Amino acid sequence: MGDVSEKLEHVDVLVVGAGPAGSAAAVHSAEAGHSVLLVDAASFPRDKTCGDGLTPRAIHQLRRLGVAEKVTDGYVNRGLKLHGFGGSVTAPWPDGHFGTVGSAMPRMRFDALLAETAVERGAVLWEDAPAVGAEFDGSRLSRVTVRHAGVDRQVAPKWVIVADGVRSPFGKLLGRTWHRGEVYGIAARSYCDSPFADEPWIHSHVELKDSDGVVQPGYGWIFPLGDGTVNLGCGALSTDARPAKVNTKKLLDFYASQQREEWGLGVPRDVASAMLPMGGAVSNVAGRNWMLIGDAAACVNPLNGEGIDYGLETAEMAVELLGAEGRDLTLVWPHVLRGHYGEAFLLARTAARLLTYPQFLPVVGPLGLRGPVGAVLMPAAARLMGNLVVDEDRDLLARVWRTAGRGVSMARSGSPLWSTEAA
Ligand SMILES: Cc1cc2nc3c(=O)[nH]c(=O)nc-3n(C[C@H](O)[C@H](O)[C@H](O)COP(=O)(O)OP(=O)(O)OC[C@H]3O[C@@H](n4cnc5c(N)ncnc54)[C@H](O)[C@@H]3O)c2cc1C
Repeated sequence: MGDVSEKLEHVDVLVVGAGPAGSAAAVHSAEAGHSVLLVDAASFPRDKTCGDGLTPRAIHQLRRLGVAEKVTDGYVNRGLKLHGFGGSVTAPWPDGHFGTVGSAMPRMRFDALLAETAVERGAVLWEDAPAVGAEFDGSRLSRVTVRHAGVDRQVAPKWVIVADGVRSPFGKLLGRTWHRGEVYGIAARSYCDSPFADEPWIHSHVELKDSDGVVQPGYGWIFPLGDGTVNLGCGALSTDARPAKVNTKKLLDFYASQQREEWGLGVPRDVASAMLPMGGAVSNVAGRNWMLIGDAAACVNPLNGEGIDYGLETAEMAVELLGAEGRDLTLVWPHVLRGHYGEAFLLARTAARLLTYPQFLPVVGPLGLRGPVGAVLMPAAARLMGNLVVDEDRDLLARVWRTAGRGVSMARSGSPLWSTEAA
């Protein structure tokens, strides 16, 4: 137990967690004129298990935060190269709403940059400060206990934005439930030295074999970082019914050995793995004056495990709701999330579920990657995998995607998607 400090800290917005989602929420809140306290359990710089990849959609949000150049000055990529089943397809980032610039930056640097930006814009940052307790006044979250450097401090916020990541310990205190029956990811990443670290394409291998030559339900990636290293990792998709029987760290070693010669790879270091709830498969993501954003709200793309862009976007969307003090956010926030991401997440979750069937990929993979079908399908897949389809897109792909999304929404309307009760 920590010592207790009786002084009550009054703030407009308390942001719990200073990953990309929380720091972005702190920046937007400060710029909207609110007083902001941003607290994180860790001290910066700190690592976070990630592929470090930033699609144009993430870069677009970084522009809105005024920090895009600090990232893209170091390294820029132009799109995705997909490999597997005897074929390879190059898919440049499409020239759409978000622009054609992607990047990558180790999270050790990226997250520290965003937390510093929040402080520059006026937020107060407490590090080594987990939020550990919640008190309610009726349905209002009226007090939060933050254990700052071992001392319990009481914070009285008007609003609380919870961005405490995939495990969401504070979100759990507020009732957040993760539905493991839905597709989730398990993934491992590492850093390897490579003479090709300036290569302007990210690479994904969709035919990932284990050491017995058996195709795994998942993919491998190599994301150049422009600093003499690449982020190399692999991920697999699971459900409770069909857990991916794969040791991701072992698979990573095997994948690295397969790619060593082509990339001139050094030995993988800082190998770390993590799980990823995806596609909105959590419930109880809001209360009267609090909202969960980013990974805490399972805002991760089920097809590629990407979540930084969603973290940054949900931060901005959440802050836009803070204007009216009396507004009850309990139903409003899940409604906003469903409106923005519902159809796309349900469809992606359904596609991802197919990938958890061991028979699916070996049959469909060769059709998708080889020959004329691959030439049409893979750029489209890259656009879907990069989260780059938005309402403004008026072309065929966007229409097909949205129509399919509506079909799936209707067919699977019982799936938990930020539902308001623990199903
Ligand atoms: C292996 C792997 C590879 C991935 N690759 C990519 C990729 O290439 N591109 C991409 O876009 N996404 C990727 N993702 C997903 C991405 O990492 C997450 O979507 C992203 O980090 C979400 O950001 P966040 O701010 O919501 O949470 P986080 O980045 O997890 O930040 C949460 C913060 O909350 C803090 N915290 C936790 N509990 C408390 C508490 N009680 N009080 C205060 N603070 C607390 C933590 O210390 C942490 O700093 C990957 C994920 C994995 C596991």
